[in-house]
Amino acid sequence: MSAQPHVHDHDAPEGLVSVEDARERVLSAVQPLAPLQLPLTDAYGCVVAEDVLATHDLPEFASSAMDGFAVRASDVAGATPANPRELKIVGRALIGHEPEGTVGAGETMHIATGAPVPAGADVIVPIENAVVEGDDLVRLLDGPAPGTHVRPRGEDVHEGDVLIPSGKRLGAPELGLLANAGHPTPLVHPRPRVVVLSTGDELVPPTETPAFGQVRDANSFTIFGALREMGAMPVMAGIVRDDVESLRDTIFNFEIQADAFISSGGVSVGERDVVKAAFFRRGNVDFYKVAMQPGMPQGFGQVEGKPYFGLPGNPVSVFVSLEVFVRPAILKMMGRRHLFRPEITARLTDEVRGPRGKLQFARVVVRHDKGGWSATPTGARGSNLISTVARANGLAMIPEGTQTAPAGSTVQVLLFRSSED
Ligand code: AMP
Ligand code: MG
Repeated sequence: MSAQPHVHDHDAPEGLVSVEDARERVLSAVQPLAPLQLPLTDAYGCVVAEDVLATHDLPEFASSAMDGFAVRASDVAGATPANPRELKIVGRALIGHEPEGTVGAGETMHIATGAPVPAGADVIVPIENAVVEGDDLVRLLDGPAPGTHVRPRGEDVHEGDVLIPSGKRLGAPELGLLANAGHPTPLVHPRPRVVVLSTGDELVPPTETPAFGQVRDANSFTIFGALREMGAMPVMAGIVRDDVESLRDTIFNFEIQADAFISSGGVSVGERDVVKAAFFRRGNVDFYKVAMQPGMPQGFGQVEGKPYFGLPGNPVSVFVSLEVFVRPAILKMMGRRHLFRPEITARLTDEVRGPRGKLQFARVVVRHDKGGWSATPTGARGSNLISTVARANGLAMIPEGTQTAPAGSTVQVLLFRSSED
């Protein structure tokens, strides 16, 4: 599967920015956040900002892989049940402790699995091949080669080795390795805190019953989920009325906590388009039309030096904008190197109609069967129904020049979920 963005740079009609240019504009304006040393549980999911080097061998001491007796290989060489060797038990090597002493010629020590191998011993004879005689004698019935059943020091990692290369994301095994190797606060790019707000006089929170004409705020929650999935930290700033002062107040109240902002709504040309009114000609926020459907009107820029994404209000446009622009940018802020979703080539099971001159992102369910990948649209074109996204796992990209993609034709599909779960 390719991880390359498969968007097209040509054919954008007058006044429209191509999707690729719009994405490039966003990506070139964001940088990885300055790295911090974070405790492992906070660093989980973050990208390390430097090579992490091993400061010790791992394991740090040679230990036994069996319960048995630690001996000198030369003392038991050639031992068999018919021809055993008798050695003197001089102590115990317990797990989590220094051995009680050393093992000299003709001597042995009890040893537990995981216990450090006492100096002098170089092999473990398992308990099954030992017959203890009284308090301090043992007959050993086997003579394994030196090193047998010993886990050597440094077997896993040598001091100075690169434990985790710069740029690697910390998943479960990396956290375990760092903990084991004594790196409890790795230097990582932190998760961006992203302030999320919804604009619109018609909006009410989902906990309220809307009066006639009011709409429950969907977008804050779509954005919240998308940010969580990216690994960012959403900060919910709620609903802001279509009023420039309220919008500015909210943004500046949250500014101190923010690494970026995402608003939805209010970026078109209507009189109530508050985001545009607040920033137009003032901040460093640009408003432009992208040759895509849905998601055509977009705002992007900086507020107090922090990226500001002004997404359109339509809930499907919000989702597509998150996938196409916001997600790659947030991943870049997190220091990630692979910014784009995997894509597959799939066969459409039904016709998809699109607008000429715009790249259409059609919501589809992709499935794999004997005939390869298929893509089934989940809603009619132009529908602004969030349910069409909820039923989908991919966005089929119908190129600008194609007005109708017939059933049976192949399309590129961006996969935003790896399964239908
Ligand atoms: P706007 O871009 O503000 O003109 O909004 C476009 C459409 O999306 C309108 O029908 C709005 O009611 C709707 N809309 C805007 N914001 C939200 C939201 N947060 N949740 C659900 N629908 C919204
Ligand atoms: Mg609005």
